[in-house]
Amino acid sequence: MTETGRLAVFHGTGKPFEIREYPVPDPEPGAMLIRIALANICGSDMHYWRGEQNYEKMGRPLPLNTGHEHVGTVARLGAGVTTDSAGQPLAVGDRVLYRYFFPCGRCKACLRRQYKSCPVRQANWLVSCEVWPHFQGGFGQYFYLRPNHAVFKLTPEISDEMAAGINCAYTQVFAGLDIAQLRAGQTVVVQGAGGLGVYACAVAREMGASQVIAIDGLDERLELARQFGATDVVDLRRDSTADARVARVKELTDGWGGDVVLELVGHPGVVDEGLRMTAPEGTYLEIGNINVGWKAEFDPSWIIFGNRRIIGLAHYEAEHLRGALDLMRRTLQKYPWGRVVSHKFPLEAINEAFAEQDKGHVTRAAIVPN
Ligand SMILES: [Zn+2]
Ligand SMILES: [Zn+2]
Repeated sequence: MTETGRLAVFHGTGKPFEIREYPVPDPEPGAMLIRIALANICGSDMHYWRGEQNYEKMGRPLPLNTGHEHVGTVARLGAGVTTDSAGQPLAVGDRVLYRYFFPCGRCKACLRRQYKSCPVRQANWLVSCEVWPHFQGGFGQYFYLRPNHAVFKLTPEISDEMAAGINCAYTQVFAGLDIAQLRAGQTVVVQGAGGLGVYACAVAREMGASQVIAIDGLDERLELARQFGATDVVDLRRDSTADARVARVKELTDGWGGDVVLELVGHPGVVDEGLRMTAPEGTYLEIGNINVGWKAEFDPSWIIFGNRRIIGLAHYEAEHLRGALDLMRRTLQKYPWGRVVSHKFPLEAINEAFAEQDKGHVTRAAIVPN
């Protein structure tokens, strides 16, 4: 009899996830099958769940197996896979970290070594979960890692709770601060202290930022941002207007603003104030606003006369994944990496997990499939 595994099927916004069983795939040469240990609900998962991002309009085939921020162990190895991307021997049962998207390696972007811009990098979500290999997302018992993946073995001191956020939120801000060319001694402002935001605080400090200012309106998030290295926090409840927040950031930075300001809220309404917080010659790093079609209003002359720049970023290069993992290993005593996952839910309670995270008091809910 064919072995089967469970996964959460997404039928579209407003419809509950459904748990279904599918045949467990045998990996092709060069591929591998991962047994999921933990899969987080990321901010972008909330966008499609709430309907801010419409999968039907985007042409994604439903039903889908969603979820992308996850970690697990090697369940089956395809022919020819003997090591991880660092050359370490790889065997069934090893805990691993991997990219959840798959640059094709042969398009114009890939030929230029701009893998994060490969137009078909999310090929795993261009087919429904009804189609082989079925397990194409993180909310299930397995994940099919296609051939030519970037994968790194995990050592025991990094728990599943610490590791689950690495392949999306954490490496995303790691790549962002690298591409924004943050230099030692500069100031950083973080708009939004959710999962991405608290990771950004730690990465900015480790890259040498002299000051890291986190903006949010929930006590537990502001407290976590401080534990992750924020030197100052701006509380939305106290500074309740955009003007007040811009003034507060200026006051904290001797009138200068942030050399790098990260947008991690995911709402276009924060872009104007974020730009006004950006120092002359500074960079506004846009990561959070992934909802296609939403519009932001701002004064473009502010960018010109201040010699500012705006950088957009989706996904990252494989070297960022390795760098982020290495940074975590070196700072295990310094930051509470395992605390970003605040609540755990079994796979069967996935609908409840989304509802709880939507209320905002769950920093990151993790789905545990077993
Ligand atoms: Zn994510
Ligand atoms: Zn490509």
